[in-house]
Amino acid sequence: MMESCAGEYAVAEYALVACHDCDLLFRKPRLRPGQKARCPRCGAVLFQRKRSGMDQSLALACTSLVLFILANAYPLLRMNIAGRVQEGSLLTGIEELYSQGYWEISVLVFVVTFLAPLAKMLCLFYVLLPLWLFGRRAPKAERVFRWMEQLSPWAMTEVFMLGILVAVVKLADLAALTPGIALYSFAGLMVTMAAGDAMLDDHEVWERLEAADG
Ligand SMILES: [Zn+2]
Repeated sequence: MMESCAGEYAVAEYALVACHDCDLLFRKPRLRPGQKARCPRCGAVLFQRKRSGMDQSLALACTSLVLFILANAYPLLRMNIAGRVQEGSLLTGIEELYSQGYWEISVLVFVVTFLAPLAKMLCLFYVLLPLWLFGRRAPKAERVFRWMEQLSPWAMTEVFMLGILVAVVKLADLAALTPGIALYSFAGLMVTMAAGDAMLDDHEVWERLEAADG
């Protein structure tokens, strides 16, 4: 573990980078968690190490995965319309959209609420777990990490949550609604995924990927 840290600094020390504001060249600095590096000429913030490390990112990813499983395994809402009870989950909702002929919308909902968040979590585990456990880089980890960064805008749990809330408000007069476990799990998932994005220090991950053995 110590060796990989030493390697990380050796790589970082020889890397020359340019200030994105004034193009001044300088050696990449070593930063401790919570520290910032500013350009000596124009004062722009060049690098920033977040206080959180990979432990927090992985803990949040594990929590997100559990909430994601709960959000898809249990019903979102139970509706009671004049004695007729109906339950719906995320996946049955997508199936329903498809069977009513809205296949484009069903594919979009499937991608942004199911496929993209799941793929993002799996990519994060694939890149971070070997680094965290053994200080090693998984095969093609750089490419997977780049995919993960490109996938981020497509994981829209918060937009889906907003859609559910609008539907709940509109249906409240027509039917007796009982929120299911999945609704609470989705709300939690929205928070843990946003916190995970905020805590993930991608500079740290790239530095560790560069320094780790494949
Ligand atoms: Zn500058």
